Amino acid sequence: MAGNWSFQTKLLHNKHKFDPFTKGVSVPIQHASTFHQEDYDHPPTFDYARSGNPTREALEEAIADLEGGTRGFAFSSGMAAISTAFLLLSKGDHVLVSEDVYGGTYRMVADVLTRFGIEHTFVNMTNLHEVATCIRPNTKVIYIETPSNPLLKVTDIQGITKLAKANGCLTFVDNTFMTPAIQRPLELGADIVLHSATKFLAGHSDVVAGLAVVKDEELGNKLYQLQNAFGAILGPQDCWLVLRGLKTLHVRLEQSSRTAFQLASFLRKHPAVRTVYYPGFHDHPGATIQRYQADGAGAVLSFELESEEAVKALVSNVHIPVFAVSLGAVESILSYPAKMSHAAMPKDERIKRGITDGLLRLSVGLENIDDLKADFQYALSRISERVHR
Ligand SMILES: *Cc1c(COP(=O)(O)O)cnc(C)c1O
Repeated sequence: MAGNWSFQTKLLHNKHKFDPFTKGVSVPIQHASTFHQEDYDHPPTFDYARSGNPTREALEEAIADLEGGTRGFAFSSGMAAISTAFLLLSKGDHVLVSEDVYGGTYRMVADVLTRFGIEHTFVNMTNLHEVATCIRPNTKVIYIETPSNPLLKVTDIQGITKLAKANGCLTFVDNTFMTPAIQRPLELGADIVLHSATKFLAGHSDVVAGLAVVKDEELGNKLYQLQNAFGAILGPQDCWLVLRGLKTLHVRLEQSSRTAFQLASFLRKHPAVRTVYYPGFHDHPGATIQRYQADGAGAVLSFELESEEAVKALVSNVHIPVFAVSLGAVESILSYPAKMSHAAMPKDERIKRGITDGLLRLSVGLENIDDLKADFQYALSRISERVHR
């Protein structure tokens, strides 16, 4: 019966709703690094906490279930999850990566994997034909992020997974922006789903964590070996924080997504705003694919002002959003990709990709829509004064 429950209900009512020993309605935090081996002849379930910990196991089972996978793995950060997944590759392999991939993933692929003889090509994943022409005999992984950061471009997950399978490649999907509440890539043929749980899954700007989920048993065993070998596991206290955050995932994302759409529509009408990127708009180039593969457009949008000067005026006059890196929190977060997430990218490369000096990214939190609108209305009015005077 539990199998038929909706996502919303499963967030709360699952195998870990009670502590089996005390019936406490919260997963106990087990800090022990080692476990007494009572039975000389039979190894215990848990022996050493890098290899397995009950609090971590609760989180790993929870995320596996929510993504429709068979095994989940919790890591010390999103980058630890992503880097560990890349360790499935060997010298001489080639990987195709979304050209507008997360900055940390870009660095891992471009600066680290190359030292180990793993080649890469950055591709525009919204164009399946272009992706197909970039596949080489040694291509082993196609790595995608959709919608992408910060321009919210949509990649056809099923199109990519079919192409990957036909060419003997695995598909990795970074599902941080959508979460399984909105998008479940394993159901669309992906092999590994990756998360920065630091963002929406935990949701409160108070923990750094990463997750990986697979469906295939053999791939699960390989990833487990790598998690244990590389050792970048998530500590029990942090596992508990992610588990706590997960309980409100559905309600948080539902409200933030609704507000994001309203705010995106408001910004689009404002004369000081040049463009708004949001996959929930009917005229977004990826709108149809987004509607097919996801149950919403999420809570992240970006918008372009005419200059850095205008950005400065806006940022100094908004009061509600925090001006910071990161996203997916209860509070709205405004970030400036040119100086934050994409600061390391050469300026011409950055501009070529549409990440101009006027671009801002907004992750919408749980504040009241009227308060947010009024805050942006005021800050935008300050720009017009400063720039047009
Ligand atoms: C933040 C983020 C990451 C990296 O996660 P950390 O938890 O910061 O290591 C990876 N991918 C995306 C899309 C992100 O937003």
